[in-house]
Amino acid sequence: MDSHDLGELDPRQETGQAGQAEDLLKVVDLCKHFPIQAGFWRRIVGHVRAVDGVSFALHRGETFGLVGESGCGKTTTGRSILRAIEPTSGQILFNDQELGWVDVATLDEGDLRVFRRHTQMVFQDPYSSLNPRMTLLELIGEPLLNNGVGDAAARTERVAELLSLVGLRPEYIRRYPHAFSGGQRQRVGIARALALNPQFVVCDEPVSALDVSIQAQTLNLLQDLQEAFGLTYLFVAHQLNVVAHICDRVGVMYVGKLVEVADTETLYSSPLHPYTEALLGAVPHPDPDYRGHRTLLAGEIANPASPPSGCYFHPRCPYAVDECSHEEPELRELQPGHFVKCHLAEELQLVGVDLEV
Ligand code: SF4
Repeated sequence: MDSHDLGELDPRQETGQAGQAEDLLKVVDLCKHFPIQAGFWRRIVGHVRAVDGVSFALHRGETFGLVGESGCGKTTTGRSILRAIEPTSGQILFNDQELGWVDVATLDEGDLRVFRRHTQMVFQDPYSSLNPRMTLLELIGEPLLNNGVGDAAARTERVAELLSLVGLRPEYIRRYPHAFSGGQRQRVGIARALALNPQFVVCDEPVSALDVSIQAQTLNLLQDLQEAFGLTYLFVAHQLNVVAHICDRVGVMYVGKLVEVADTETLYSSPLHPYTEALLGAVPHPDPDYRGHRTLLAGEIANPASPPSGCYFHPRCPYAVDECSHEEPELRELQPGHFVKCHLAEELQLVGVDLEV
């Protein structure tokens, strides 16, 4: 199809972060800037750079985690990729099962509908993401109905099948969300996301609103479904222990930018960015006698409307040198598959955590 001819932008070319596995998604220089309006005439007086030049690739069948403090841009990145919000600039190259390689950022309405059938989102809050006036049949069957899939009997059968898949009894099909616990509601949200057999799911903090006892069950369910259906996940979270459990690779974001990307084990055991070290140092440890490394982060996360000069992390970084305050570091590949955005990455001896402890 002509409209999908990416010409020189062929995502299959190696451009840094593509690995050996087949890529499903390649995000190139993605930006989402929200205008700040002020005064009677609502003039634009600045921009909040929520996502500012983010690039990474997702391999088919993997779980890629995006982590960072609240406000770092990880959720906005996930939503921009699905065009739930319009990106300001950049490319979102996706290997759609029907359309082939497309740039999601420029899809027209027709192709966007096709793309949305193959990509879904699991939301953070299972209480507000489900309409309380709809039964499970209506909630989970809605994407099928909206896309004209099957007749009423076929949709009911599919919803019952999806309920079983996520560990809920098909007899619950006519019940309303209020009859279920938080963990069960999240299972309903997952069933709804799976209704149209998606290729790619953005999981936006899917367990952070759940009790700790339920979190592991939900993560295990997501892993089982991934294995059964070959799903690819973008897993947005701020709990690093959760990310360690489910993700193959992790990207760390700070003030709208990716500052480190590596496979999970390497990132946790041998971080190369001081911000990653600080995040890891703050992870609660199950063993009360464990005496790990703790770097307490001074100050607040920088304001994305007026970020600091140079390295955005320099006002909080315990290792900052003069250069850091006026020169922004590049995201560089220091070891195969391990990218870091820090001037001193080669020199620093940072402390990670042992995932086995
Ligand atoms: Fe810290 Fe400088 Fe590295 Fe930024 S570039 S993380 S301020 S050492």
